[in-house]
Amino acid sequence: MKGFAMLGINKVGWIEKEKPVAGPYDAIVKPIAVAPCTSDIHTVFEGALGERENMILGHEAVGEIAEVGDKVETFKPGDKVVVPAITPDWRTTESVQGFAQHSGGMLAGWKFSNFKDGVFSEYFHVNDADMNLAYLPDDISIESAVMITDMVTTGFHGAELADIQLGDVVAVIGIGPVGLMATAGAKILGASRIFGVGSRKALIEAANFYGATDIVNYKEGPIDEQIMDLTNGKGVDKVIIAGASPEIMKTAVKIVKPGGTVSNVNYYGEGDIIPIPRLDWGSGMAHKKIIGGLTPGGKDRMERLINLVKYNRVDPSKLVTHKFHGFDHIEEALMLMKNKHQDLIKPVVFVD
Ligand code: NDP
Ligand code: ZN
Repeated sequence: MKGFAMLGINKVGWIEKEKPVAGPYDAIVKPIAVAPCTSDIHTVFEGALGERENMILGHEAVGEIAEVGDKVETFKPGDKVVVPAITPDWRTTESVQGFAQHSGGMLAGWKFSNFKDGVFSEYFHVNDADMNLAYLPDDISIESAVMITDMVTTGFHGAELADIQLGDVVAVIGIGPVGLMATAGAKILGASRIFGVGSRKALIEAANFYGATDIVNYKEGPIDEQIMDLTNGKGVDKVIIAGASPEIMKTAVKIVKPGGTVSNVNYYGEGDIIPIPRLDWGSGMAHKKIIGGLTPGGKDRMERLINLVKYNRVDPSKLVTHKFHGFDHIEEALMLMKNKHQDLIKPVVFVD
């Protein structure tokens, strides 16, 4: 079978591989639609995970079941499914303890395009199909479903980790598709004022749509100065980081109030140290919490998010600015994610 792969750091291309084989609890899925992620860009072009050779990329897909193992109870060939980016091993201690993302080791629940071949392939393998896959309902569009697999769940996780309370003032740093969903998640969880920090026109329009009350353009002056001015020197209750380099932590810690939380869902592709500014962190005594997380995955998470879309709490289809038809367009879509132009939020490739 054919797949679009990371050949090595900074190198991508089409390769041929053996079709994967389903174990007793697994499924083999044919993609219906896929999307590239900024994480694929960090992985390939920044070498963020280290060397990977001939690894098929992609972890955002909606697909059709081609085959199931003999212990799979819920699914059969032909079923249409939403495939989460994160597919934990549920029979692990980490999963029992509530951190299924790290089942089997740190970040090990993230398998596609990290520890095994991803979804940019004619067929791909899904472990523990009954626990990881969710049915695609007829009344959800394919593009919304693809966005649920990673963008919605990750952005919403940023809002969850920030522990947003009714009336909180929140800054979302980075309003790409992840930050936009963090904005939507913060709104659903009850934030009052939401600062969306970004610069590109399409993102600013979408941030206003998803619930930002104020836009801060980081190209027009330091973010901390702008947000401190806009809050009369008080700062914000919660910060969600969904973009920028490790240096952004200095800004986040500075603008969050004592007792507040900085929640990070950014994937830092470069730099050895993420800096915490001593004085802004109250010399270590400010009760400013910092937490970062890989998004949850699995079936239950997908079903909850599918319901949020189904009952009109969020419309992730607005993230999709570019649609391609044909498997061969995967490379073009990936390159769009690399060279983000003004009008791009997220591309989706329909396989046929
Ligand atoms: P995008 O690149 O589309 O968006 C990044 C945003 O950050 C843009 O709004 C950009 O501004 C903004 N930004 C860039 N530099 C700065 C800066 N110096 N100061 C302030 N804002 C800045 O990324 P995505 O939304 O696709 O992804 C966001 C991050 O989430 C990525 O690192 C991705 O790898 C990660 N991710 C993490 C997951 C997880 O499980 N934790 C899962 C999926 C993705 P501009 O408007 O100028 O473009
Ligand atoms: Zn991703």
